[in-house]
Amino acid sequence: MIQIDSTSDRTSRLALIGFPYDENSSFMKGAAEAPPLIRAAFRSDASNFWSESGVDLGAPGTFFDAGDVEPLGATEMFSLIEDSVRTLLKDNLLPISLGGDHSITYPIIRAFSGKYPELSLLHFDAHPDLYDELLGNRHSHASPFARIMEEGLVERLVQVGIRTINGHQREQADRFGVEIIEMRHLQEGLTLSFDSPLYISFDMDALDPAFAPGVSHREPGGLSTRQAIRLIQRLQARVIGADIVEFNPRMDPAQTTAVVCAKLLKEIAAKMVE
Ligand code: MN
Ligand code: MN
Repeated sequence: MIQIDSTSDRTSRLALIGFPYDENSSFMKGAAEAPPLIRAAFRSDASNFWSESGVDLGAPGTFFDAGDVEPLGATEMFSLIEDSVRTLLKDNLLPISLGGDHSITYPIIRAFSGKYPELSLLHFDAHPDLYDELLGNRHSHASPFARIMEEGLVERLVQVGIRTINGHQREQADRFGVEIIEMRHLQEGLTLSFDSPLYISFDMDALDPAFAPGVSHREPGGLSTRQAIRLIQRLQARVIGADIVEFNPRMDPAQTTAVVCAKLLKEIAAKMVE
């Protein structure tokens, strides 16, 4: 369990928490190594703490860093993730989680739905992650949104960047009423609006591998970094939480993807404090 009360700056608005956990990755491990690298890129002197929109994320009291949560076995880890995020929410912080693989989003959303009964979810990904199970694992990183929708944890799930949907996942999307903006249909200038509080889940493979090669499942034909940032900046919504997942440092020889994660972190965080 993370300790917050002893160290939390009570005036902080955003919390950063890392989940170095990739046990539910089906194809390749490595995402567990991401959180410290994203933090390092975020704090690097190579850039500054200002968002493009003019928010100074380096201002005192903006971020509380809850650190990384030590990974445990599968069942315990999900409870630990849920409890950790719930603790931050109780402290009136807006948590941004760093993965880890995409399986962490299910326990995170369980915590959020406790505080926000009317919650919308914007999911950036090449993959719909709606498999009922993958390789016998219902907690696979390919399944979090099936679990979230089955439990009715969100009012609305909107997916963007999708370009790998198959028959089973299309059935699942229809069954759960998922709004999918497939990559092949994405229009420039799109503005997404949400009436209820919005959580953003950003799988780094939503981006084209030309922009973010450091992922386990490279899928060409994705979003440019600029397209993703523009979708975030143009959002008409109150953003109350986010995660950045699936960055795999083992696939990132030029160490460019960590910087892209940090850039997205900045623009999402700015949207949350605006
Ligand atoms: Mn995913
Ligand atoms: Mn993906």
